[in-house]
Amino acid sequence: MFQKDWTNSYFFVEVSGKPVCIVCGKSVAAKKKSNLERHYDSCHGNLKQLTGQARQDKISVLRRELQAQQSTLSRYCKQDEDIVRTSYELTELIAKKLKPHSDGEFVKECIVTAVKLLAPDKVELFQKVSLSRRTISDRIKDMGENIEKKLKEKAQAFDFFSLALDESTDITNTAQLAIFIRGTTSDFEIQEDLLSLESNAWNNTW
Ligand SMILES: [Zn+2]
Repeated sequence: MFQKDWTNSYFFVEVSGKPVCIVCGKSVAAKKKSNLERHYDSCHGNLKQLTGQARQDKISVLRRELQAQQSTLSRYCKQDEDIVRTSYELTELIAKKLKPHSDGEFVKECIVTAVKLLAPDKVELFQKVSLSRRTISDRIKDMGENIEKKLKEKAQAFDFFSLALDESTDITNTAQLAIFIRGTTSDFEIQEDLLSLESNAWNNTW
């Protein structure tokens, strides 16, 4: 257990279950008095001359600084997450509209140009959204695998299912057979999805 008096004795506070030095921000793995004491003695020995009120004041200042630092850090983590999410959502739009993967670069150019004029202070943020051809392909693959995984999980609960087939020819004159599945669970929950797209490159008819 972290002891409250370790803050006054060794300048340590507990952050997410770990003792953290409020002077240098270093965290110590083990919640042991001897470890904190060693860090305090070897790194911040000069603080020993601070006593009484001066010591208390110094501790509260350092504590506030550490808290401010940590809230900035968590704000940045949230922002990184939002940037990746934006990249996924825009990729989904590109895929749904059947646009070439390379259009991502053009979309980004448009967004950045608009932001430069409307919110110049946010340009850096928008520039971080990756929409390169490679990223778009990777994200589409990711999302496809995720849909397949979810469908497989749901299909395990199906009591009955039916298949529907639809054949058409794509622009390269290749026959494409779309297989749809419609299933129902014991709670009469109906799920319908594209199961597979099979191509036949040699023959236009099935
Ligand atoms: Zn330290």
